[in-house]
This record gives sequence, C-alpha cells and structure tokens, in this order.
Amino acid sequence: KFITFEGGEGVGKSTNIHWCSDWLTAQNIDVIVTREPGGTPIAELIRNKLLKAHHAEPMVPMAELLLMFAARAQHLEAVILPALSQGTWVLCDRFTDSTIAYQGFGRGLDLSSIETLKTLVQGTLEPDCTLLLDAPIEVGMARAHGRSVATGEATDRFEIEQLAFFERVRDGFQTLAATHSRFVTLDATQTLDDIQAELAIRLNLLRAP
Ligand code: C5P
Repeated sequence: KFITFEGGEGVGKSTNIHWCSDWLTAQNIDVIVTREPGGTPIAELIRNKLLKAHHAEPMVPMAELLLMFAARAQHLEAVILPALSQGTWVLCDRFTDSTIAYQGFGRGLDLSSIETLKTLVQGTLEPDCTLLLDAPIEVGMARAHGRSVATGEATDRFEIEQLAFFERVRDGFQTLAATHSRFVTLDATQTLDDIQAELAIRLNLLRAP
C-alpha cells in the first residue's frame, strides 16, 4: 500500500507518520517511511536547493515546480516503486498533492500544467490513501515556529511566506480532499490520542484484502 501524509506546516505529519510505521511494524507488516521532496541522495540534494534561500538570486516558481518533479521522478524509481513491488507499505511525508497545493494554489502556477507533469512522472500511480492533517494556519505556524526555536533549525525559504500564501495552500488541500475519494481529512487540532485512534481505524481498513 502507498499512503501519503499531507498538510501545512506544523500539523504533526512526521509524528503521526512514525506512529503509523510503528503500528504497522507491530502487525508484522513491512513498511518504509520516506519524504518529499527528498527520500534518495539525489532527491535530498534537490530538496536542499529548494529549501535554502540563494543569496544571489530568488528561485522562480517554474524552476521550483520542475525541481519538485525531478526529485519525485528519482524518488519513485529508486525507492517507492521497488518497495511497492515487494509488497512493502510506503508511508510518504508529502507527495504530488503538496505540489498542487503549494506550487499550484500557493504560487499560482497553472493547475493543468501541473497535472501534465504529474502524468509524465507518475503515470497512473496514485496513493491508496492520502491522510490530510488539517489545522488553522495559526495553529500550525505556532507549532512549526516552536519547533525551529527548540531545535535551533534555521527557518527554510517557505517558512517566511505570508499568511495569505498558507491560506491558499490550505484551501488547495481542502479542495483536493473534496474531489478525491482517496483522501481522509483528520482534524489536526485534536489530541494525538484522538488522531491516532482514527489512524488505527484507517490502517485497519487498508489492511483488509
Ligand atoms: O514537510 P516539510 O516541512 O519537510 O517540507 C519542507 C518545506 O517544503 C515546507 O516548508 C513546504 O512548505 C515546502 N514544500 C513546497 N512544495 C512541495 C513540498 C514541500 O513548497 N511540493
């Protein structure tokens, strides 16, 4: 099974993806956790270029879009498809829905061009299930900010965007969720216990033949 985790900043994607991985492992299911952009050495190099501001020159949105798909092409061939063909479950922190939400709804790039690139890179492959962690922007931003202060991590190029950008991204995810049946939206303002109770139900459903 191919399960993707989507949502804005600070909604708890990584905490919950690792919880799901542990839950599946406890059921004797082979699972890998990976992320986008990234997940292979080459794709992680691209991630680095995408996230770090370049002092000499801002990155244009089209370059950003193409690099996201370049990283994805590598990640699919080198990691995701081989794992799926062995029957390993793949839990992926962000996938193409993030590109539609951030580069499409957020940056305003043409959605049908993004669809064309999506088909070029992944053919008809879609996640079996996409778990969208949804929270008001202020909640997620406060958590993401708290995390970067706690870890001393520098804020990345995306974290300095304006609130309106993140509102468009959230709207993008909600629009995708409303139009694709593979989406399950989880209220990320709930307690972790409540979220994980819902996750267990979803994982059980996916496990059924
Ligand atoms: O999920 P994570 O926080 O690791 O993502 C890194 C950054 O990349 C985020 O700030 C997100 O806004 C950005 N991103 C993006 N477009 C994507 C995927 C991630 O702008 N398609």
